[in-house]
Amino acid sequence: MSQTIAILPGDGIGPEIVAEAKKVLHALKSAGLTIELDEALVGGAAIDATGKPLPDDTLALAKAADAVLLGAVGGPKWEPLDIAIRPEKGLLGLRAGLNLFANLRPAILYPELANASTLKADVVADLDILIVRELTGGIYFGQPRGIRTNGKGEQEGFNTLIYSESEIERIARVGFESAQKRQKRLCSIDKANVLEATEFWRNVVTRVGKDYPEVELSHMYVDNAAMQLVRNPKQFDVMVTTNMFGDILSDLASMLTGSIGMLPSASLDANNKGMYEPIHGSAPDIAGQNKANPLATILSVAMMLRYSLNQAKFADLIEAAVKQVLANGLRTSDIQESGQKTVSTVEMGDAVVVALQASL
Ligand code: NAD
Repeated sequence: MSQTIAILPGDGIGPEIVAEAKKVLHALKSAGLTIELDEALVGGAAIDATGKPLPDDTLALAKAADAVLLGAVGGPKWEPLDIAIRPEKGLLGLRAGLNLFANLRPAILYPELANASTLKADVVADLDILIVRELTGGIYFGQPRGIRTNGKGEQEGFNTLIYSESEIERIARVGFESAQKRQKRLCSIDKANVLEATEFWRNVVTRVGKDYPEVELSHMYVDNAAMQLVRNPKQFDVMVTTNMFGDILSDLASMLTGSIGMLPSASLDANNKGMYEPIHGSAPDIAGQNKANPLATILSVAMMLRYSLNQAKFADLIEAAVKQVLANGLRTSDIQESGQKTVSTVEMGDAVVVALQASL
């Protein structure tokens, strides 16, 4: 039976990079992958057409699909709008509407790009870590929250860090299952020495770990984890953590590679249905110039095939094709080093398709 992919190009460079990812999907379709692509508007493009960042039709299409591929949303054109109807609300609406509670962000450094990092090449060469971030709970959503006047007549701001056992258990399972597919090491990040909510997190992760005896579980405080990510990032395989700690650590980890245009991400629900997108934004400064690096979006397609569509073999082939074009010396401007020829968005996408077709 055919699987449906909802394609949401969005704004800025979104349509350009998604066009290259679609070429990859069409190449796989020609090689026997049974997929249908359905396209819809989201973000600023949807505001311009319908007045809403997430039109009902788009959410319905995303819900009905087996997976969603998103480009990026936002841009200066829509910044003056009220926060409730800005493009970014489209993204949050998709995460909430699809119950995407697990955010997976790999930070992979291809050997050819070792000099793109601000860290020493030997610290990051061959880096391959995966951060699993809880996405729909914790302090970003906990109640009560707000700004109030306290008993002494002074204003105070407050938020609530709260995690239920089931919320921790389901994200822990994503962490363990991800580790099972990799080097079988999971590090759970908390602040159990200070925060009861994360002491509870540690207890639940430890209990769930008994179901995964082949995965080596360790625990680390978040302050130490931030230090270790910069000192010796290759000690990690998979890290699982709360919404806020994951927000901070995943940005830190992604920048170890120094190449924002290279990193994909996945946000998954309880059934491994997911939304896949590059970690970068809509890059308005280079939009429409055929300069954007499409590889993060193409690698997001590989994650989609692996996690939602159960097509790990095709995922491997895409990742191998990306490695091949990098080894062949192709660079978009964001990953270019002096002396190297720069290729356009379209040229990079075409090169990946050629390398992929050679292996199909
Ligand atoms: P950005 O990621 O769009 O751009 C940061 C810098 O990286 C820019 O110089 C840009 O040119 C460069 N860059 C990003 N992606 C690139 C690519 N694929 N190839 C080459 N260079 C690339 O972040 P920003 O400038 O802070 O935000 C721009 C807009 O994107 C804002 O409206 C923001 O709200 C939005 N945004 C959207 C998402 C999303 O859709 N998930 C994420 C972050 C930011």
